[in-house]
Amino acid sequence: MLTRRAALALSLAALAAPALAESPKIPVVASFSIIGDFLREVGGDRVSVTTIVGPDGDAHVYQPSPADGRRIAQAKVIFVNGLGFEGWLERLISVAKTKGTVVTLGKGVAARKDEEGADPHAWQDVANAKIYVNEIRDALVAADPEGAESYRANAAAYLAKLDALDAEIVKTLDAIPTDRRRVVSTHDAFGYFSARYGVEFIAPQGVSTESEASARDIARIIDAVKQHKVGAVFLENVADPRLAKRIAAETGARVGGMLYSDALSDAKGDGANYIDMMRHNVRELAKALTP
Ligand code: ZN
Repeated sequence: MLTRRAALALSLAALAAPALAESPKIPVVASFSIIGDFLREVGGDRVSVTTIVGPDGDAHVYQPSPADGRRIAQAKVIFVNGLGFEGWLERLISVAKTKGTVVTLGKGVAARKDEEGADPHAWQDVANAKIYVNEIRDALVAADPEGAESYRANAAAYLAKLDALDAEIVKTLDAIPTDRRRVVSTHDAFGYFSARYGVEFIAPQGVSTESEASARDIARIIDAVKQHKVGAVFLENVADPRLAKRIAAETGARVGGMLYSDALSDAKGDGANYIDMMRHNVRELAKALTP
């Protein structure tokens, strides 16, 4: 008969041992919350996802911590947006000396560029989100060939949802007269959205939040708002609300609620995943612009 102590040791060992069927998850890192959501969709339960810039975080000006370096060092694959979005990331990756593969998404995206540089906010067009998802699927298949079937099935199911989302956005915004589809945002994060869905955005701040809007930038927007009909001035989840409120106050334009530009909301918010985030934005736009 077992002694009490031996029985306890046995039961503890049983608790600590992993279940037979369970293989260790592939550690992957996403630079920011939207890529993290795509990774969870495609990776399912085969991957363990760590996101560096979390909900409502501004990836343009993020300051990485030593813990971020450790996460990158331990990752098998690191997924980044590129196009100058995460300016701090290259150094973090080189300091972390990771053996993981760095995958820059959006290689297949037609990048919007002007004299300021590239516009990194490609995810604001659902067609580009689909490109990210395809690239994530291919990178996960390469990193974990045993999971290929699962990654392909997950991606196919999610891509179908993205097609439905895209059609829903087009339908909602097409119902708004073209001459009413003009709004103000804080930073220039909606260029891809604008090109795809036909809503004009003007913004005092450029495609990055790194440099603040100058007095001249703000004056230019105030003039534009006074000259053209503008449906509303929108706040952004990653931006200081004061600038948008000031423009609204000085022009008499309406404050039109908050848009998710560069990050998801936390789990309790209504933009906790990419599809909900896009739906929220379109709902807010339609509310402000519908005659
Ligand atoms: Zn941005």
